[in-house]
Amino acid sequence: MANGAGSWPMVATLGLVMASLSLGCRSSSNSATVAPVPTTLRDAAPVAEPVAAPVAAPVAAPVAAPSAAEPAIKIVDWPIAWTPERERLALAYRRAHSDPNAQDLTIVPQVIVLHYTGGDSAKGTKGYFDNITIEPSRKQLYAGGKVNVSSHFLVDRDGTIYRLMPETKMARHCIGLNHNGIGVENVGDESKTKLTEAQVAANIALVRYLVAQHPTITHLLGHYEVMKFTQDPLFQERDPKFRNDKPDPGVRFMRSVRTGLTDLPLVGLPSDDKSP
Ligand SMILES: [Zn+2]
Repeated sequence: MANGAGSWPMVATLGLVMASLSLGCRSSSNSATVAPVPTTLRDAAPVAEPVAAPVAAPVAAPVAAPSAAEPAIKIVDWPIAWTPERERLALAYRRAHSDPNAQDLTIVPQVIVLHYTGGDSAKGTKGYFDNITIEPSRKQLYAGGKVNVSSHFLVDRDGTIYRLMPETKMARHCIGLNHNGIGVENVGDESKTKLTEAQVAANIALVRYLVAQHPTITHLLGHYEVMKFTQDPLFQERDPKFRNDKPDPGVRFMRSVRTGLTDLPLVGLPSDDKSP
């Protein structure tokens, strides 16, 4: 599949590092002019204070019968709170940042973006994502829209895959790629709570499943790679200053996941496709 990867400029937008505001994961750098903000999910939203969290327990969803192109995986549906207010705020975000004429939140997935949460529990991340609006202390993100961050999937440390929202509905997980990107969060980080081999295997299986379900998907990126692709047509952000620099989920993790997907024609950073 033609991908045009060789034509993607590695533009110097990393110099436009804004505040250390996270889209559900920790950030690597801070602006000297912006007050410190929470940098982890644990800091940003104590588990003890979830808002409007659904009481329903996670339920295993039946997955279509396996085929050569669509291996069987177990996905546990664990939907985050989604209210009319969240719907309205998310649509306002979409119109402001990518699609001025958008009428709804439907997306045609073209990109999968992998993340880590920076926290150590799926419950904590789910509780945080249940909040409808983002906290004002996350100044850059709050200024960019009040709808809270979210992701479509959350992979626990034992490899359990939770689906937090439909993958054809816009989540807020990655500046520039929310209108066409599926977000996959992984519980952990790459320091004290390193991502696990079970998570690597689960991400490989999930990417395969998603590509089989959505043939429009052509790209697999780590969140830390996205700012190097701001000139690609897939990246849409109407505010040229709305950028952030992220470390997640890290080179080690991306290389491990890509090693298990070499047979798929997914575009990623060439430098990170050369896994040892
Ligand atoms: Zn991220």
